[in-house]
Amino acid sequence: MTDLGGRIVAQNLVLLPKEPAKAIPAIIAGVRKLITANADKTFVGIGISLPGRTDLGLQKLIFAPNLNWPVLSFKPRIERATGLRVEMDNAANACALSEVWFGDSDGNHDLVVVNVSEGIGSGIFANGRLLRGENGMAGEFGHIQIDSNGPLCGCGNRGCWETVASNRAALRYFQEAGGSASVQTMEALIKLAQAGEEHAVKALETMSVYLGRGLRMIASALAPREIIVVGDITSAWYRFGPVVEAEFKINSLSKGPRLRPSLDGNTARLRSAVALVMNEGSI
Ligand SMILES: [Zn+2]
Repeated sequence: MTDLGGRIVAQNLVLLPKEPAKAIPAIIAGVRKLITANADKTFVGIGISLPGRTDLGLQKLIFAPNLNWPVLSFKPRIERATGLRVEMDNAANACALSEVWFGDSDGNHDLVVVNVSEGIGSGIFANGRLLRGENGMAGEFGHIQIDSNGPLCGCGNRGCWETVASNRAALRYFQEAGGSASVQTMEALIKLAQAGEEHAVKALETMSVYLGRGLRMIASALAPREIIVVGDITSAWYRFGPVVEAEFKINSLSKGPRLRPSLDGNTARLRSAVALVMNEGSI
């Protein structure tokens, strides 16, 4: 829950059951709890940012290799249950709008947000609006093949950028190097690296090199003024940002854009959902 300036004033973390059928009631209960606890406030709407692509009318889920939920039923069910307007979009698009609404950006320059989590999604804000492309598919840089012999990707291809530069890739590098099997999350891996554990540092450095390499392709393709990275890796940007940046700046074409981390990943993603509500009607 945020105010109109995007400042988070309350939040409620809900651990969702694995079964999709049980997840929606849990989400609705979480929303209701927030509304009840803040009954003196007026609510404008609910934003949902998704790790996948839907068409603009939310009639079909176009592309969501890392999502097994029936997300299209979310909007009507949550609207019915809460009586509030629900806006839903791809997480990276939402983060791009969030930078325009709440971030440093003045909304007058082109920017790309790269959302690094399980996979990698990109949101492109160009010429004053989101660039959506045919079927809303613009910006799937995460599924450009970097290595034809690389790991199998959720999209069915091999060696996509996200298979070598996402959180999942970093955890894989760590395990392959003989790192402790008890480290299962990116948060734990980053903590370990910050404590100086060698395999963890190396895994995150490898991920960072691949991240920088892919960002170079975005700079060459779109020439934005800024590229903003969202994700867990930004919590250790002081350590791994320079690795990303060094790889990014190798090309003459990628010297132009400013590369920066967003606010911490959670805040950026939470705000992005609110930006969807704020933006409704202007895209
Ligand atoms: Zn892929």
